[in-house]
Amino acid sequence: MDYLQSLLFHDGQFLGIQWHPWKVVGWAGNVVFTSRFLVQWHATEKSKRVVVPSLFWWLSLTGSLLLLAYAGFYQRDSVFVAAYAFSWIPYLRNLLIHQRNERARQQCMACSHKAEAGARFCSQCGKALPETA
Ligand SMILES: [Zn+2]
Repeated sequence: MDYLQSLLFHDGQFLGIQWHPWKVVGWAGNVVFTSRFLVQWHATEKSKRVVVPSLFWWLSLTGSLLLLAYAGFYQRDSVFVAAYAFSWIPYLRNLLIHQRNERARQQCMACSHKAEAGARFCSQCGKALPETA
């Protein structure tokens, strides 16, 4: 137990960090932003092809906005602010494109699988999908 305590506490502070509410925001941003890699890796391993799920973009957007708030309101470092000031734009754009693609998917009448937009055949059962304009 002393080992665990000495591992987690340094100089009387948890993880040796001088905690402040904005530090919590910054670390939450770090955790959320970093977790996106695990989500993308898991999705790719699961489907055996490179996949970027919408959760990846949500985590990117949330993490970058938390880090931007930390950088702008607490750290006030122009380099850090510039790094996150515009990164949310492609994340938001990718979410909008993903949402548009999700709406365009067709449901297979035979097996209820949601086929990719523009697909002519169901990838699950192979049945022909209705033509779309
Ligand atoms: Zn089907």
